[in-house]
Amino acid sequence: MTASPMMQQYEEAKAACPDALLLFRMGDFYELFHDDAKSASKLLGITLTSRDKGENPVPMAGFPYHQLEGYLAKLIKLGRRVAICDQVEDPKQAKGLVRREVTRVVTPGTLTDDALLDPRQPNYLAAIVPGETFGLAWIDLSTGRFQAATCAPERLADELARVAPAECLLSEDADDLPPEIAREWVLTTRPAWSFGKAAAEQTLLKQLAAVSLEGFGFEEQDGPAVRAAGAIIEYLKETQKSELGHIDTITPYRTAGTLQLDEATRRSLEITRTLREGRREGTLLAVIDRTATAMGSRLLADWVAHPLTDVDLINARLEAVAELVENASLADDLQQILGDVYDMQRLLARVTTGRASPRDLSFVARTLRMLPKLKAKLAGRKALLLTDIEQRLQLCPELRTKLEGALEDDAPLSNRDGGVIKPGFHPPLDDLRELAAGGKKWIAEYQKQQIEQSGIPNLKIGYNKVFGYYLEVTQAHRDRVPEHFIRKQTLKNAERYVTPELKEYEEKVVSAEERAKELEYTLFCELREAVAAEARQLRVTADCLAQIDVLAALAKLARQRNYVRPTVTDEAVLDISAGRHPVLDITEPDGAFVPNDAVAGGEDRMISLITGPNMAGKSTYIRQVALITLMAQCGSFVPAKRATIGVADRIFARVGASDELSRGQSTFMVEMLETARILNTATRQSLVILDEIGRGTSTYDGLSLAWAVVEYLHDSVGCRTFFATHYHELTDLEKSLPAVKNLNVAVREWEEQVVFLHRIIDGAADKSYGIHVARLAGIPRVVNERAKEILAQLEDEHLDSNNRARIANRSRKKENGIQLTLFGPAEHPLLEAIRETNMNDLTPLAAFDLVRRWREELGDGKTGAILD
Ligand code: ADP
Ligand code: MG
Repeated sequence: MTASPMMQQYEEAKAACPDALLLFRMGDFYELFHDDAKSASKLLGITLTSRDKGENPVPMAGFPYHQLEGYLAKLIKLGRRVAICDQVEDPKQAKGLVRREVTRVVTPGTLTDDALLDPRQPNYLAAIVPGETFGLAWIDLSTGRFQAATCAPERLADELARVAPAECLLSEDADDLPPEIAREWVLTTRPAWSFGKAAAEQTLLKQLAAVSLEGFGFEEQDGPAVRAAGAIIEYLKETQKSELGHIDTITPYRTAGTLQLDEATRRSLEITRTLREGRREGTLLAVIDRTATAMGSRLLADWVAHPLTDVDLINARLEAVAELVENASLADDLQQILGDVYDMQRLLARVTTGRASPRDLSFVARTLRMLPKLKAKLAGRKALLLTDIEQRLQLCPELRTKLEGALEDDAPLSNRDGGVIKPGFHPPLDDLRELAAGGKKWIAEYQKQQIEQSGIPNLKIGYNKVFGYYLEVTQAHRDRVPEHFIRKQTLKNAERYVTPELKEYEEKVVSAEERAKELEYTLFCELREAVAAEARQLRVTADCLAQIDVLAALAKLARQRNYVRPTVTDEAVLDISAGRHPVLDITEPDGAFVPNDAVAGGEDRMISLITGPNMAGKSTYIRQVALITLMAQCGSFVPAKRATIGVADRIFARVGASDELSRGQSTFMVEMLETARILNTATRQSLVILDEIGRGTSTYDGLSLAWAVVEYLHDSVGCRTFFATHYHELTDLEKSLPAVKNLNVAVREWEEQVVFLHRIIDGAADKSYGIHVARLAGIPRVVNERAKEILAQLEDEHLDSNNRARIANRSRKKENGIQLTLFGPAEHPLLEAIRETNMNDLTPLAAFDLVRRWREELGDGKTGAILD
């Protein structure tokens, strides 16, 4: 049995995009067939049925067309690619089988529909070119923002974490990719040729309508970046089936000038995504976001992901925020106006790709309407950044007048059904509309008149596609039909007629209506073109709107939360008084968070060791130091009473293995790899936050590693470091390393219980409160008592603080000589001599002599267990 013509059509469409689920439009439904139907029924929970119930049933599943958005969103979220095959001609006008075509392929990285996108987040499609230096390019198709970079292979994971792409393109023959990349990101393999040097560059140049990439700032060594960018364009051309007019520029991404944050740091500081669930809620970004627009929200995310290192640039932002903090009503006014603007960046992308609806254009118009007010508010400001924005803000008055004059206030989503253009905008359109309306009225009149003349009370005028307008008379009144009625059709109960007059008007009405819609569509397209023609200027304006929004939002945050303007300097210093954790400060009830000071810098205070029991607030404290630094470098005020922040070139934050619950695999190895990276790449200008490093292995092992790490940071790196640890043995380092400072978290014991004060104070925690905490948690009293005994014993035997002090002093001075163990006292050689002495051979005198010699060897006999 050969397949029906329609199924042949299906097979053709399917062959064109074999790796996507194909949604095939049939009447009012989208249907999936074969394996697609089986997967979809599972993924979407829709019923699996079959077409052709006969010998070769074809599995089929589907849903009504108006539910497309919801189902599409679900499939994309699950990381699937979806091809949509639509009817591309009006079924009413089709002769034979309706033509169908794949109108777009939707993938996680190529979304443009507002309904499928988070307005506050960019949606990036990335491409990776592996090699000695990696090429990486990324684009947000919904706005056209397009960037590319080269990076060292070991930085790839960090760069991807920064971009956080929804989908990554990779050549089918690329195999040297770190396995965690495939685990973390949605990968789409593509033909190798699309990454080829010549092909990719050509594709890119053609898209940008350029002859060279130099003008965009790319250099000789950016080859891999360009290949990645070309592969992206190739993929978009294939999946989008529409113009990519909004992609007319690409910028090379250079890390110089931005604070480097690697993937582990971004994760552990929960800057834009939470550690456990990877969500936005609960992150620094989410809690500080006070923006009024989606554009502002996305820009803020960008600022937070790319803090600056240039003091002047940081100060330029701070200056603007400061002015808006001082002038609160200005900030409020700006944000209020911004509340009425639309997402111009995404609107423009839709305009230039020919996807904008009439409603989109009316949103452009409404946004333009707000601009003069905004510009006026910004006029005469002191901060350079504000005046600069004011100057770049283009009002585009002609475009605004045109759109406002043309578009209906409530412009529809559809561009084919009329109702788009205002009366009075285009006289020929008004004429057609009048004619269409007038014609209908005439028909109604005509019907009334014919009823009167013929005396047939139920005479009707109807319409169908074949005959057009007709007069219908039931069989009962057949003998009353006048002469001039021309019979056209006989039905069971009625006859249909036409008259010359009816035909004449029919022509006018039908064609007038159709022609009006046609004309409206043409006028709409012209308007869309007019907007597209100003896209460049409008994009600059949209960027200005985003910037105003972010600056006003930071000012609002600063005022609401009582932040202070940080003093930013190039020196490697840090001085925060009464700092608060920016997230807990907001999420905890007011006044519940205990502020703390933090100081680093200079000869005697580079490394702070924070000890204290579990739950005391160590992790919170060191993170707050990192987050305050990061916020300052974004140009934000900070949650503190006063703050001097020396710009950091990099921030490293590491969480020890057992503290990081979310990643099950080989955690200690990961911890050590990450620690190795800090030690190898941190500079004097970096800020290092270590949280319980060394915890992922046995106690002595871990303690020894932590010890050596601190020594190395002190001697070889010399950077600002905050190290939270539950190994209070480490606090002995303060004695031997001049720039190490001990801190601990104040705890009060009260009726055998521990009360956490969350206050950071000078000095080492001299006692482990673990047992007390265990008691709080409900560990049985006997277990607790026994633990106390064991602790006392252990402290006596091995870990008495005298010995540790010696280790601290000596282990660094002495490289040779007797091997020292860190925590068990080394055995004195005399002990061996004593053991080897055969008592039975000794005369009392010889014994006396021996003991005297031993005493001599021991000096005055007071020497402790450890040798020099
Ligand atoms: P540690 O790392 O010492 O085990 P954490 O930093 O994880 O402790 O803090 C434990 C809990 O104590 C946090 O969840 C937080 O709610 C609370 N906390 C920490 N620091 C403060 C503070 N300065 N003020 C108020 N609550 C705090
Ligand atoms: Mg902790």
